[in-house]
Amino acid sequence: MPAFVDFRSDTMTVPTPAMRAAMAAAKVGDDVWGEDPTVRELQDEGAVLLGKEAALFLPSGTMANQVAIHVHCRPGDELVCEERSHVFFHEGGGIARLSGTQARTLVAADGFPTPAQVEAAVRSDDPHYPRSRLLVVENTHNQAGGRVASAARVAALAASARQHGMATHCDGARLYNAAVALGCRPAELVAALDSTTLCLSKGLGAPIGSLLAGTADFIKEARRARKAFGGGMRQAGVIAAAALLALRDGPALLAADHARAQQLARGLVELPWARIDTVAVETNIVMCDLEAKAPDALLQHLNAHGVLAAKAGPRRIRFVLHRDLDDAGVQRCLAACRTFAASPSSSPA
Ligand SMILES: *Cc1c(COP(=O)(O)O)cnc(C)c1O
Repeated sequence: MPAFVDFRSDTMTVPTPAMRAAMAAAKVGDDVWGEDPTVRELQDEGAVLLGKEAALFLPSGTMANQVAIHVHCRPGDELVCEERSHVFFHEGGGIARLSGTQARTLVAADGFPTPAQVEAAVRSDDPHYPRSRLLVVENTHNQAGGRVASAARVAALAASARQHGMATHCDGARLYNAAVALGCRPAELVAALDSTTLCLSKGLGAPIGSLLAGTADFIKEARRARKAFGGGMRQAGVIAAAALLALRDGPALLAADHARAQQLARGLVELPWARIDTVAVETNIVMCDLEAKAPDALLQHLNAHGVLAAKAGPRRIRFVLHRDLDDAGVQRCLAACRTFAASPSSSPA
C-alpha cells in the first residue's frame, strides 16, 4: 500500500513506465524552429481530436489560456467569464498583467452563465466603455466541482457572444472529462467556439503540457505570443512523447475516475458532518462542505491516515480522482473519513 493516497489534484499523476520509455526513445528537434517531429505529431493529433485546423503545445494550461486571451484581446478590451473561472481566479492576474485586458465576471451556481447573462454583460458601442471582446467558458468547471455543459448549452452561449462580435474560448483543462461524462467527442463540445485548451497533465496523466487549438491563423499568432511569454521550448519532444501517450491512453481511464468520484460521494454523504451535493458530482471532482467541523482538522486527520486532500474554501474540501488512484484508495479515504466522524480529537462546533 502506498504511503499516501493523493486526492489533492489530478495534476498529481506521475508518468507511467511506458511514458518514461517513450520519453527516452523520442525523436526530437528544435520546436521553436518547428522541427520537433514528436511535438508536431502531438499537435496534429490534438487538432483532429479537438476538431480545429491547428493546435499548439504549451508548457501549461495557464499559458495556453493566457496566450489565447492575448491573441483574442487588445489592451483595454474586456472579456466575460464566470466569477470562479480559472482564467480570472487562478492565473496570477494574467489577464491584466499580460494582455492589459479586464474581466467582467458573471455569477452562475454551476459555473455556466446563461446566454441572457452574457447578453446583459455586453457593452454597447460607446467611448465610455471597454470593447466586449471575448467570452471564456470553462468545461468542466473546476471550482463548481467539475460540472459539465452540453454541446447545445455551449453553442447557445457562444451564439449570444458571437451575435455581438465577440470571440469565444473554452478553458478545456478537463474537456475530456466533460466529453466522457456526456458521452460525446471533445470536438463536439468546442465546435461552436473559436479556440480551446486541453490539459494533458491533469487526468490524462502526462507529466507536463497543454494544447491550444483553433484556426491556422489563430495558432500562427498564438505561436508568436507563446514565444514572447517565454514558452518556446527546444527539444520538447521529450515531454510531448509522454503527452502523446496520455492523449491516446488517458481518455479510456476517465470513466473509472468518475465512477470512483460517485463512490466517494455516496460514502461521504452518509457522514453527519459532511454536506455533499451528489447531483453536482458529474466528473472526477467531489466538493465536500463541512458542517460544524474545521476543514484543517479534517485535512490533518486524513493526513495522519495516509490520505491527502485539499482545502477549496473556508468550509470546503476538494477530492479529485485520477488514474493513480484505485478502488482501494477510495476505501482508504472513506475509512479515514469515518473515523474523523468518531474522533474525539476533531474540533467541536
Ligand atoms: C489546471 C487548470 C488549468 C491550467 O493549469 P496549469 O497548472 O497551468 O496547467 C486551467 N484551467 C483549469 C480549469 C484548471 O483546472
